[in-house]
Amino acid sequence: MSRVGKNIDAHCLKCKLVLAHIIMYEVDGVVSKVKCKTCGAEHKYRGTKPPVPKSDREVRAAKEKRLKTNASKSSANPAPIEWETRRRNMDEGEPIKAYAIQDIYRAGEVIRHPVFDLGFVERVVSDKRMEVLFKDAVKSMAMNIH
Ligand SMILES: [Zn+2]
Repeated sequence: MSRVGKNIDAHCLKCKLVLAHIIMYEVDGVVSKVKCKTCGAEHKYRGTKPPVPKSDREVRAAKEKRLKTNASKSSANPAPIEWETRRRNMDEGEPIKAYAIQDIYRAGEVIRHPVFDLGFVERVVSDKRMEVLFKDAVKSMAMNIH
């Protein structure tokens, strides 16, 4: 049975006392929000105990967790930003080679792939493989294959 509208003892943050409150609403049968009959403040029902302040360590851990999440989010895929920067800084006369699997490429060269479009050769891994920065990701590409 719902107790909404009935009285309940709760700790009031404003009055800093356990006082009679009116239950404003419940969530899943649990008292959620109450209104202080003394000062009229509406707040979450936390029982009759004052809220325990978080320890410094807890606050710091939460902050670090947030920082870590942000860092991993921004480093998820830097390719589009890098690609855009490279494209903007390209010399006007920069030759763009059409990518062909049998050709040999060197780091720093600009290629155009039929599917991935413009790519910047980042690194030559072996005589048959290179890493190319395309718009959406750095891809490992074959080269010098006959
Ligand atoms: Zn109050």
